[in-house]
Amino acid sequence: MNSKMTMLTHDLETFSRQRGADLFGIASLVPAHDFIASGSNPFVTQFPRAISMGMQLCDGIVEQHTPNELRRHSLYWHHVYEVVTRALDFLAYDVARWLIGKGFKALPVPASTPYNFDKLEGVFSHKLAAHLAGVGWIGKSCLLLTDRFGPRVRLVSVLTDAPLDAGMPFDRACGKCHVCVETCPVKAFTGVEFRAGEGREVRFDVFKCSEYRREHPCGLCVSSCPMGSRRRHRD
Ligand code: SF4
Ligand code: SF4
Repeated sequence: MNSKMTMLTHDLETFSRQRGADLFGIASLVPAHDFIASGSNPFVTQFPRAISMGMQLCDGIVEQHTPNELRRHSLYWHHVYEVVTRALDFLAYDVARWLIGKGFKALPVPASTPYNFDKLEGVFSHKLAAHLAGVGWIGKSCLLLTDRFGPRVRLVSVLTDAPLDAGMPFDRACGKCHVCVETCPVKAFTGVEFRAGEGREVRFDVFKCSEYRREHPCGLCVSSCPMGSRRRHRD
């Protein structure tokens, strides 16, 4: 490996963690070029790398939420979609400025805002970047599952042309677990395991989920997954 690339990657990771990233990885987007180009925003294909960063969701917030309460009264919704989302956007903006200051192109992708409201898709898939970076793997819930926090994370990405050392993706399987499939109140999951290159609709009906969450602050697929709830026993 080129030592300048390694030094740049190391310095960027240090900066990102100091700014609040609990998870950090670099994705090479080259293997996913055709998939990204087929999405709603082919302009993102100009970037060969994505920096994937995550923040943990505190267990107290994940475990106290009650899906039948109204969204506007929900502490869970407030923390996950207002506090953490905003913190991730500030983190990504700082990281992008750090890269631009060193002479590279960088585009911070919003943590949450959908760009294509017809398909309920963002500008770029944070989960794809995190998976390619080796930050985690994708479960039957379509959530990113990480070794440290299970699915109790939120993600953000920065696209860049900086020559950073990319991580290696890895896959694991949910196996016989169907907890999220059975727990989801609107049966949005099909129970099919993730396969690279296959569309989200094979595993997940995002419209069912979105419709339900218009009123309810549901995050049962996050709170019920044993990969997150067993984590404290592994720490
Ligand atoms: S957030 Fe709730 S409704 Fe949406 S997929 Fe998860 S469990 Fe189902
Ligand atoms: S609840 Fe079970 S099936 Fe669903 S993502 Fe977690 S481990 Fe996989």
